[in-house]
Amino acid sequence: MAEDLYKVLGVSKDASESDIKKAYRNLAKKHHPDKGGEEAKFKKINEAYETLSDKNKRAQYDQFGTTSSNGGAGGFSGFGGGQGFSGFSTGDFGGFEDIFSNFFGGGGRTKSRTSESRGADLEVEVVLTFAEAVRGTKKTFASRNYENCSSCNGKGGEGKKTCFTCHGTGSVSQKFQTPFGVVAQQTTCPTCNGEGSSFDKVCSKCSGEGRVEDKRKIEIEIPAGVEDGTTLRLSGKGEVGRRGGTRGDLYVHVRVEASNKFERRGLDLVSILKIPVFDAISGGTFEVETFWGKVNLHVPEGTKDGQLLRVKGKGIKSQGRAGDHLVRVQHEMPKKISAKLKEILGMAKKEM
Ligand SMILES: [Zn+2]
Ligand SMILES: [Zn+2]
Repeated sequence: MAEDLYKVLGVSKDASESDIKKAYRNLAKKHHPDKGGEEAKFKKINEAYETLSDKNKRAQYDQFGTTSSNGGAGGFSGFGGGQGFSGFSTGDFGGFEDIFSNFFGGGGRTKSRTSESRGADLEVEVVLTFAEAVRGTKKTFASRNYENCSSCNGKGGEGKKTCFTCHGTGSVSQKFQTPFGVVAQQTTCPTCNGEGSSFDKVCSKCSGEGRVEDKRKIEIEIPAGVEDGTTLRLSGKGEVGRRGGTRGDLYVHVRVEASNKFERRGLDLVSILKIPVFDAISGGTFEVETFWGKVNLHVPEGTKDGQLLRVKGKGIKSQGRAGDHLVRVQHEMPKKISAKLKEILGMAKKEM
């Protein structure tokens, strides 16, 4: 009997996406096998998250109590050890990759067991501070995934020969006599198990796979100016394929923490400058903090409340382009309006 996925994550049925994510992160950290957690439990958590984090799958689950598309295999392995990283997955267990190919329009691996195959895509989420995102940064993390086998150099063994039964195709054709005539059926070659080839000596370390599961340090460079919600695709940084097959890609989902000083708008940064209303009327020079340091800003006389003043080139710098820093001027009223001030204002009114 299938377990209630909401219960697995300890959330209610109407939990928001971010609640689900939060619950998942906490549980995944707590039950990670590398940290002494129970593998089965960890798998369950990942399975539940896979379904509930996907809008369509969640809707399907809510309606039918199951998601049939996902052959039951749990989707996560490995876990980003570094700070700020969450769920790290390899597509090798099915579920996750399905979501993936939907997202990115294909690239899904075929399941045929020909000798070489492209490695699985990896996916990681990285959380950056506002400053890291503006300046660009490097992140290193460890991920458990397939790496080239060092003892056979990814070949899988020595003395590779084409299979004599299937002549390298990996499948054989069998003919059956049926009441409707002779039917030919393709089946996996029993001699080479569909590989199409065999070795004189199979590598003992990787059992002919050409790759072993290992922890690998992955270093990624995040370009300056990256925006919250961006997905970077690092081609060839994913898992290595079977028998020296090409690597999959690495997808990096970037989250950027908000700044308490600046608001980002495309390549521009916006900050607020509060000045006494009288200074806004008469104009003046004010010190303003931009991301790149302090500048003196001239506020022209008669600047309106809410008006934006531009400091050229002090915004986000990305791919040879630079945005501006925009200062939103806000009028500050005097805290106390004295009789004297009223008198002065009375005179000022006559001037208008
Ligand atoms: Zn090997
Ligand atoms: Zn064969």
